[in-house]
Amino acid sequence: MRTVSLPGGEQVPALGQGTWMMGERPDRRSDEIAALRLGVDLGMTLIDTAEMYGEGAAEELIGEALRDVRDTFFLVSKAYPQNASRARLRAACEASLRRLGTDRLDLYLLHWRGSVPLGETAEAMEALRTAGKIRHWGVSNLDTRDMEELFAAGGDGCAVDQILYNLTRRGPEHDLLPWLEARALPAMAYSPVEQGRLVADTTLRRIAEAIGATPAQVALAWTLRRSGMIAIPKAGTAAHVRENRAAVDLALSAEDMAALEAAFPPPRGRRPLEML
Ligand code: NAP
Repeated sequence: MRTVSLPGGEQVPALGQGTWMMGERPDRRSDEIAALRLGVDLGMTLIDTAEMYGEGAAEELIGEALRDVRDTFFLVSKAYPQNASRARLRAACEASLRRLGTDRLDLYLLHWRGSVPLGETAEAMEALRTAGKIRHWGVSNLDTRDMEELFAAGGDGCAVDQILYNLTRRGPEHDLLPWLEARALPAMAYSPVEQGRLVADTTLRRIAEAIGATPAQVALAWTLRRSGMIAIPKAGTAAHVRENRAAVDLALSAEDMAALEAAFPPPRGRRPLEML
């Protein structure tokens, strides 16, 4: 599995697994558990979740699925903005740890920006790191100006920004991705197959068919073309997990890349960061 460096040098897999909408349907539970376990076996050992997902249901599913192999994967969770304060972050983190059945998170993110000052969130995150509850911290859905504000407020210990990024959401290429790259901070692309919608795209289907791949694989390979980029597709079936894993090894030709550039043009100017 290809890896990406966190600040400080720790390596994490470039392709991980998302869990939004998992753990909410009893009829899908055993498939979801099998999918997560298979993904870890195949090297997709970064698992992304949040206290928000099913109000704890996704974290509980991960606990059930992977508690016995906890040392083999890198666990990411996120706090609601209203919990990202000096007074509340520790309790939110401990509740996530209980649901996940573990004693530490590898990475804890502010899910999106709310009314708590970014400097206060950074301080609360650093306190959790000192206490051994989390190993790294970062943010999600923060645009360039928010990142500048975070760093100016003492938040330069931030390890990653998790953002909406795929072929149809290329806005971050204008200034946010260059800002992160200049500081050697990885970006984590969420909804890399646009929640499944990219699978039906005609350009992707044509390219995929010509190279014996699937549209989801082409979309993932395109996202992973940038160094310093981690992608976290969510797959609830073993077939999708296997397909996504193989996308890491898919090399797109210059011709395929040109066709994708034409169908999904890069931003011409600054665009506000989009969110799902
Ligand atoms: P996504 O990963 O782009 O798409 C997930 C959908 O695509 C599911 O319906 C899945 O179906 C389908 N899919 C996956 N692999 C496929 C394949 N090979 N072929 C066809 N369909 C495939 O969207 P997402 O779940 O929104 O984003 C991924 C993760 O990012 C989330 O789960 C979550 O962990 C994180 N996220 C974070 C934020 C944030 O604000 N920080 C926001 C959104 C998402 P099956 O389930 O049937 O396999």
